[in-house]
Formats: sequence, C-alpha cells, structure tokens
Amino acid sequence: MKPAAQDSNFSIPSTMRAWVLDDPGQLRLTEKPVPQPGPAEVLIRIDAVAFCDGDIRIITRGPPALIQGGLPFNKNFTPGHEYMGTVVKLGAGVDEFEIGERVAVEVHFGCGRCERCRAGMYTSCINYGMNYGEHNKGHRANGFTTDGGFAEYAVNNVNTLVHVPDDIGDEEATLIVTAGTAMYALDTLGGLIAGQTVVVTGPGAIGLMGVAVAKALGANPVILTGTRDTRLNLGRRLGADHLININTENPVEAVKRVTKGKGAHYVLECSGNPNGLNDGMDMVMRGGKICLIGFANEPVPVDLGKLVRNHISVFGIRGEGKSATHRAAALVAMKRFEPKIIHTHTFKMEDLPTAFKYSRDRIDNAIKVVVKIRDN
Ligand SMILES: [Zn+2]
Ligand SMILES: [Zn+2]
Repeated sequence: MKPAAQDSNFSIPSTMRAWVLDDPGQLRLTEKPVPQPGPAEVLIRIDAVAFCDGDIRIITRGPPALIQGGLPFNKNFTPGHEYMGTVVKLGAGVDEFEIGERVAVEVHFGCGRCERCRAGMYTSCINYGMNYGEHNKGHRANGFTTDGGFAEYAVNNVNTLVHVPDDIGDEEATLIVTAGTAMYALDTLGGLIAGQTVVVTGPGAIGLMGVAVAKALGANPVILTGTRDTRLNLGRRLGADHLININTENPVEAVKRVTKGKGAHYVLECSGNPNGLNDGMDMVMRGGKICLIGFANEPVPVDLGKLVRNHISVFGIRGEGKSATHRAAALVAMKRFEPKIIHTHTFKMEDLPTAFKYSRDRIDNAIKVVVKIRDN
C-alpha cells in the first residue's frame, strides 16, 4: 500500500473548472467533481492541452466522439485529448509513476479484453465507447468517449502516460501525442525506414511530425509537399530534405525528379485531399506503401487497377496504437527533433473558445494552439 502521505504534496479540491460541450460549436465553462483514480489509474492535474483537428470535428460535428452510445452534445462531456500535466494522486497499486511527476498522455485506453486490444491495436478497440451502464467494457479514450483535458484534472490509466523530462516545456509536451500518431503511421508501414524515401503530403501538425519522426528514424530523403511556404519551411527545420510547393510544381513529377524516376518507398498522406491516394500511388515505386492519415469527408474515386498492378499496399490508421507515443516520447527526450517548432499560439483556460477559433480558422497562421490550464 502507498502511504497516505503521498497525497499530501498537492491539495486536491473536490470540484474543478471544466469546459463542457453543449450544442455543436458551443463550449461552456462549468464546475465538475474532480474524478478519482481507480486501480491502475492516476489523477493528473492538467497543466496544458493542445487543440487538434479531431477536437474541431468533435466540437462542430460530433464524431468521432461517442458518449453513452451517441453524439457528444449536451451530455456534460469535456473534450480535449492532447494534454499534459502533473501526477497528483495514485490509484491503488500504482507504482509506475510518482506524485509530482510530469507526464504527457496518449489518447486511447482500449477495453483490454477484445481481440484488437490484445494485439496492441487499442485505437481500433472493438468495444469503442462501451463504458456506460450495461455496456461497460471499460473502454476509455479521454476527450472522445470519456472526459478529456479541457479541465483542471483528468484520470488516466498508467499505460496511457509517458514521462516528460524537465527540459521539455509544458506546451511542447502536449505535442508528444501528435508525434505518436506519426510514429504509429511509420510503424504500420513497416517501421524500418533508414535510408528509404518517405514522402509526406500535407504540412499540418501530423504531417510535420511525420517529417520529424521519419528523419529521426533515418529516412533519406524526406520529401514534404504542401501549399503554404511558411509551413513547408517549418518542415525544413524538422528535417525535410526537399520541399515541394504544389502551387508551383506538380508534386508527382517533383517526387519522380528527386528520386531519379524511381518513386518513393513510402507516402504518408496527411493532406486529406480527395486525390491524395491517387497521387500517392503515382509517387511510390512498385511495391510501395501508402499510409492514409488525412482523409476527405466524402467518398472519392480511386484507380484500383493501378494499385493492384503495381502491388501497392494502402493502410488506414487511427490514432496512436502499439505504444507509439512512448517511442515518440523517447525521440523527443533524446532531442532528435523539437515538437515546439509547430507550436504557434498559447491561450489561458478562460480563453479556450478563442483558442478553438484560432485552431479551426488557422488565424494568424496557427498550427498548434495550446491552452495553459494552469498558470505557472
Ligand atoms: Zn489529436
Ligand atoms: Zn478493446
């Protein structure tokens, strides 16, 4: 048993401030009870949380959030999933983390009992959202199916936490999970990319982290395509060897030029462009692999004949499975790249709806917008 004195370093109130989602697009600041950690869980005092495209989808449209089997609106649900903070209370039996330790999170804690969870694919848990009433299979994805990080405290399973070294700032630590998604994409493509060509299409947050992780793992060359020079230049700072502005050069021809006509080994499609997969198939060499991270909201035509004839493999991934966030965190701790390069704006907790607007509308060239829940 942990001595009770462990809890005394931090005074934990009984209620906390939390943003909740009312109607679509409507966030409201309210008071909620501070949640209590169960076995294998800790209570985190949230210090900072980043906005992600997933949050914008949830707040404006609902899915992929799933609360009590349905849409997340008007259910006292707190979104936010890219957060970091300080461990302030340990659940029964927890010795993996200490009170006062700084941690970042990965989003998904699957049910732990389905076939996918057992294989490490907990972001594709068969029991996604099953955590209520008679449907309680123990699934948690904070900010998607359980309360998330737009609040002062959250409960996390120990498996969803990574240690944050002291020389990594709060804002930067919120971006580790973004790098985790990029890592999971490269894992899914096979993981051994040293000396191989990786094309990243779309310099959004995940695309830019895709560049950084691919380079840190030895990919060479790394080619980044996009439309905004400001973002492409951030890609350069994160390790891209070639930048292609698709407004001035055909990206397929550019990839062929860089690879001396051969094509790339891998494409990470992060643009969500409706033609992204077709372009990707023209960028990879025969037998190449494409991972789709971005996607269009509508069905799109695909040249399947080209895919089959050229033995191209296509993967869709969700989130950050197989502990990819832990490996991404290791690269960040080793300073192989600096996620803070994509952090552009910081707001206070009270100004969270403004942070939402900056992120959604890309005001002032926003990429990663962070909300400091706690003022240092
Ligand atoms: Zn996210
Ligand atoms: Zn599961």
